[in-house]
Amino acid sequence: MIIQFKENVTPDTQKAFAAKFSRLNKQVLTAGSRMAVTELNHCEFSDHEASAIDKIVTDTPPYVLASRLFHPEDTVIRLPHSVIGGPAFTLMAGPCSVESEEHIRHMARVAREGGATVLRGGAFKPRTSPYSFQGLGEEGLRYLREAADENGMDVITEVMDETHVPLVAKYADVLQIGARNMQNFSLLKAVGKTRIPVALKRGMAASIDDLLNASEYIASGGNHNIMLIERGIRTFDHKYTRNTFDVAAVPVLQKLTHYPVLVDPSHAAGVWDLVAPLACAGTAAGASGMIVEIHDRPEEAMSDGPQALKPDTYLRMVRRISALRQLMETWEG
Ligand code: PEP
Ligand code: MN
Repeated sequence: MIIQFKENVTPDTQKAFAAKFSRLNKQVLTAGSRMAVTELNHCEFSDHEASAIDKIVTDTPPYVLASRLFHPEDTVIRLPHSVIGGPAFTLMAGPCSVESEEHIRHMARVAREGGATVLRGGAFKPRTSPYSFQGLGEEGLRYLREAADENGMDVITEVMDETHVPLVAKYADVLQIGARNMQNFSLLKAVGKTRIPVALKRGMAASIDDLLNASEYIASGGNHNIMLIERGIRTFDHKYTRNTFDVAAVPVLQKLTHYPVLVDPSHAAGVWDLVAPLACAGTAAGASGMIVEIHDRPEEAMSDGPQALKPDTYLRMVRRISALRQLMETWEG
């Protein structure tokens, strides 16, 4: 249930409502003049209480903090070099993994040249096989941070384990939760205790509601700096693409939630020549930005080489995206 209080309602009156719901053993969440009471759909109110209420919404989803019903305004996340959400379009680019100091510095320059303001690179890699490259760990985080700073960029990198949160938080501007960890509830709770922006990727077999419920684990810990990433899901057909890019998830999520929605065409496509068409589709669907993988020598990449864009292809794609966005702005204007 969400209660919208009348404009003149005092904090003391709101506190009295909160106390009443706490006595019913319900959790109370407030945002300005709105109060959400979890797992409660009906309640009797005295005339005095009713006089403080403007509106009651009873048909609320379990992910109430994520919902537009509770928080109609777009969430806008501000990083030192980037704005994510609202009217902004944010480009994040970099290699799948941080491979060496030299390499990430080179990739940061390329990413920046294409207009990316956030540098990506995994230092802790969630690989399907335990024998595949697992990442450089803290050394990789250091190289990533230095390469980003050198180019005036922010850092997004994956945190795989709750015990690593303090370490990754030392180097990252955005903590990425990978698809394989979308429902790692201890990890979600751990990043929810920080105030560092979190990029939550949709799990391979996760519904849109699963994704929003996962985001609620972060928000209920007090961290509301959340962005969601559609990166493709597993369907029956993965012969030509690594995953099925659910482009409809972008407008659906935007209807349901105030968090920025970004797309990851690289992990959806799995092959480099399909990345640009999917990136265009995500942009046309209204995404707040995208995260793409680049590599100067994809055939030698330590992870995800087949889907990495070479620098010239990346720069060409970025020009297409920018032309598309200009066209969209003209239509909307
Ligand atoms: C990645 O970003 O390199 C990655 C592993 O992504 P995902 O969790 O979406 O597979
Ligand atoms: Mn990758």
